[in-house]
Amino acid sequence: MERTETIRQKITALLERTQLSAKDLSGEIATSEKDIYDHLAHIQKTSNKRDRHLVVTPAHCRKCGFQFKKRNRVTRPGKCPLCRSELIVAPLLLIEKAEKEME
Ligand SMILES: [Zn+2]
Repeated sequence: MERTETIRQKITALLERTQLSAKDLSGEIATSEKDIYDHLAHIQKTSNKRDRHLVVTPAHCRKCGFQFKKRNRVTRPGKCPLCRSELIVAPLLLIEKAEKEME
């Protein structure tokens, strides 16, 4: 449990500084990409309750430029629905700190 928390804190700290893909994160933290997705899902779910917000820049097709806009997901789509290319640029993730709401 402690390790899980530590990894999430690391992911959060990295994403507060710069935009990264799940693959970048898995390299930085030495955790499998699959685990990163699990952690991100958790961060996404809990971030609204905190003063942080996970911002997802959608994946896009490197070949035709198609943007996976509907897909507010952190995972990388396998194929472009338009041109069938598999040259997909992974979604980029960033954590924004929300301004304190008036209370
Ligand atoms: Zn395409």
